Amino acid sequence: MRFDLNVCFSFSADVASIKKDVESFLKGYSKSLAEKDKTISFKKISITGNVLCFDIVSSGVLRPHNVLLNLKNNITREFGKKHHVGVREITVKGYTIEFEVIRKPLKKIVIPFADVFFDGTKVTMVLKQVDEGFLRRNYIDRMISLVKEKVERQYYEGKSEFWKVIWKSEEKKPVWYKDPTEEMIRRGWLQPGPSKGKWFYRPQAAAILKTMKKIAEEEVLLPLGFKEVVESNIVPFDIWLRTGHLEGMPSEFYYVVEPVTRDVEHWERFIDLAKITKEVPFEELKKNVTPPVGGICYAQCPMIYWSFKGKTIAEKSLPVLVYEKTVVSARYESGGRHGIERVDEFHRIEPVYIGTREQLLSLKDKLIQRYKHVFNDIFDLEWRMAWVTPWYMQQAGEIDSEDTHPRDTGTIDFEAYLPYRGSREKGEWLEFQNLSILGDKYVKAFNIKAQKSMLWSGCSGIGLERWVVVFLAQKGLNPDKWPEGFRKYLDKIPEGIEFL
Ligand code: ATP
Ligand code: ZN
Ligand code: MG
Repeated sequence: MRFDLNVCFSFSADVASIKKDVESFLKGYSKSLAEKDKTISFKKISITGNVLCFDIVSSGVLRPHNVLLNLKNNITREFGKKHHVGVREITVKGYTIEFEVIRKPLKKIVIPFADVFFDGTKVTMVLKQVDEGFLRRNYIDRMISLVKEKVERQYYEGKSEFWKVIWKSEEKKPVWYKDPTEEMIRRGWLQPGPSKGKWFYRPQAAAILKTMKKIAEEEVLLPLGFKEVVESNIVPFDIWLRTGHLEGMPSEFYYVVEPVTRDVEHWERFIDLAKITKEVPFEELKKNVTPPVGGICYAQCPMIYWSFKGKTIAEKSLPVLVYEKTVVSARYESGGRHGIERVDEFHRIEPVYIGTREQLLSLKDKLIQRYKHVFNDIFDLEWRMAWVTPWYMQQAGEIDSEDTHPRDTGTIDFEAYLPYRGSREKGEWLEFQNLSILGDKYVKAFNIKAQKSMLWSGCSGIGLERWVVVFLAQKGLNPDKWPEGFRKYLDKIPEGIEFL
C-alpha cells in the first residue's frame, strides 16, 4: 500500500519568515516517525504567507491520515510556544492511496468520496478536498475495505448461494396439488389486501395460523425452557447500524416517520385539504412529517440483542433463552410476492439464545430434535434441512464456497416440498424456517458479556405463514385428512361468516 497525502496548514500569522524553523521542525518530526516506519517522509514542502503545504508519503504501517492529527498537536505546541502562531485550519488538498486487490474487477467500481482507478489488481483511490474529521473518523480504512469487498462481490454474484442438504425426510404422498392460498381465498377463509402483500385472516385461516403459534410454543420453545419477551415493533436505525441490517437490506425495510409536531394548528392546512378534497394531501403531508427515524421490525433478534446491550450476564443465567411472538415483521418483497408464503407483513416467532459455545451447540441439537418432532410426528411433512451461507458471512468472506462441512457457526434452512409447484426435483421447495448459530458477531456488536465465559449467540426464525403453507400444501384443507398429531391441536375449522 502506498499513501500520498497533500495537506495545507493555515496559521494565524505569516510563517514565511520562520521558514527555516518550520522545515527543520518537519525534518525532526519525520525522523522520529521513521523510527517506527522507515517508509514515511515529508515531501514538497512549500510556505507562502501564512500557509504551509506538504505531502506525507508512506508505504508502511504508519498511515498519513493517522499521523496528521498527532502532527497538528505537535505543530500547535511548537509554534505556539516559540512563535505565537496557531493552526487555524487544516485542508486536505488530495489524498492518493494505492493498494492491491486479490482479483481484478470484472466491471467498473465506484464508491462515494473518491475516484477509483484500476490497473489489473492495482488500485489507485484518489480523494479530493476532504476535511480533517473525515480522516479522523476512520473513513479511509473503510473505503479501502469497501473497494475490496465490491471486487469480491462481482465474482460472488454470478454464483448461486452455498447450499447443501444435511438431512431429509422420506417422500410423503400429498393429499392434493392445489395452492392453499388460492383455495382459502375461494372459500372465504382469507382475504387479500388491504395493501400490497398484506392479508386479512378470517376466523378459519386465523385458527390455523394461531394453531401454528401454539404448536411452536408448546412443542418446541417451552419444553426447552425458553421464556417469552415482548419487544417494540419500531426499530430505531442505531440498532440496525449495529447488526449490519442497515447496509444489508435497506431496500426491504418499511420505514417509519414521525409527525414534525403534535400541535393541531400546524396540521390545519392538511386537515382542511382532506376535508375539502376527500383525498390524501400528500404534498402537505410531506411537510408535516420527519424523515424516517427507523423501520418496522424486520426480524425480532436485533431488538432482543439491543435489550442486552452493555450488560454482563451472570453465569447462572446462561444460556439465556428467550423468544418473541407478538410483533409482526415487515419486508418490501416487491416482485417476489406470492400467496401467504411471500408477503410484506408476516408473523414470526423468534427464539434467541445467548450462552457459551458448548451450551449453544448442545441447544442447536435439542432444537433440531424438537423441530423434527413437530415436522415429522405432528405435521407428517416431506421436508429437508440444508446448510446455507447467510448473506453477512458471504459478504464478509467468512466462508468459502468450497467448504462442504457444516461448521459450528452458520445457518440451517428448513425447506418443504410444495406439491402445487410441480415435481420434487423441478419445483422450488419453500424455506419455512431457519436456525442460526452466529458465534460472537452480535454479542460483540452489542457489547454483551458474561462474568467468565466467552459468549456466542444465535436465533431461529419461525415463519408462521410458511408453516401454514407447507402444511396445507401437503395435507389439504379438509381436517379429516390431517395427521392425528395436528388434529389434537385443531380438528375442525371454525364456522365462517356468511355473506349475502
Ligand atoms: P427468503 O430467502 O425466503 O426470502 P429469508 O432468508 O429472507 O427468506 P429470514 O430473514 O432468514 O428469511 O427469515 C426467517 C424466516 O422468516 C424464513 O424462514 C421464513 O419462514 C420467514 N419469512 C421471511 N420472509 C418472509 C416473507 N416475505 N413472507 C413470509 N415469511 C417470511
Ligand atoms: Zn434472528
Ligand atoms: Mg428474504
